[in-house]
Amino acid sequence: MNLLKNTGTLYIVPTPIGNLLDITYRAIEILQEVNLIACENIKHTNILLQHFNIKNILISFNKNNEIQKNNILVKELQNGKKIALVSNAGTPVINDPGYLLIKQCHLFNIKVIPLPGPCAAITALSASGISTNRFCYEGFLPSKKKTRCNLLHSLKKEERTMIFYETKYRIIETIKDIINEIGQNRHIVIAREITKKWEVIYGNKASLILPWIKEDKNRFNKGENVIIIDGYKELKNINISDKIINTFTILRKILSLKESVFITSKIHKISKNNLYQYVIKKIK
Ligand code: SAM
Repeated sequence: MNLLKNTGTLYIVPTPIGNLLDITYRAIEILQEVNLIACENIKHTNILLQHFNIKNILISFNKNNEIQKNNILVKELQNGKKIALVSNAGTPVINDPGYLLIKQCHLFNIKVIPLPGPCAAITALSASGISTNRFCYEGFLPSKKKTRCNLLHSLKKEERTMIFYETKYRIIETIKDIINEIGQNRHIVIAREITKKWEVIYGNKASLILPWIKEDKNRFNKGENVIIIDGYKELKNINISDKIINTFTILRKILSLKESVFITSKIHKISKNNLYQYVIKKIK
């Protein structure tokens, strides 16, 4: 029920990010019931509507025309119209146009009703195996290398889990920059083509993500990606005595880094992870 007299309602309607079954019953109902649908790409949204046998009026609303369209849509809403906002995929406004329209709706006391639904960032995060208690969403990294590296550098000590969107064109360069600016040992998860046929979610330390991407050319030629980076972890104040370092150094001469850390940690009864991080920091 619309509690605000004489004004319409703007519905924020998420749509599938691949698998059409991910649309909600409520989204279908709203897309049927509203007076018009503001969409990023009419052709794209028409395919969705046809699939669900929905007939409605579509109006183009994208990053190139949103400023002009805001006033038109606000007028329609003030005249009591119900409008659904959709983007090409996922939750509108999340790296898609719309927040300025919503801001105007708030200013003019027009009701805004968000529907829950698909969003690549949150779907990827839920399957990342990385802590979700605190996270930040960074959207697309800058396309210019220097700006991208500066931003990544500024995030080196970010403790929250970080979520990025990345295109197939830049995925290799971006992972290289993450290795250089954040570190080769930071845990990263790549969520590709979520909900689609070739969906894959792969996690490993940054230096091993790069060969994984390169081993299959589809991974850098095709598809959509979300990158999730584990937050910065302060090295615990552990007591790494000379005795421990001696053991490690001797073992390291004949064993791999992983094996040396493992055996040293067993001999001295200390945390394997803490020792690993300490050793990596010293080596770097
Ligand atoms: N509004 C959308 C949302 O809610 O996720 C995001 C739109 S943004 C313009 C498009 C980017 O989202 C893609 O470049 C990719 O990084 C990410 N993305 C969208 N669909 C995806 C999918 N199925 N798998 C992985 N990433 C996806």
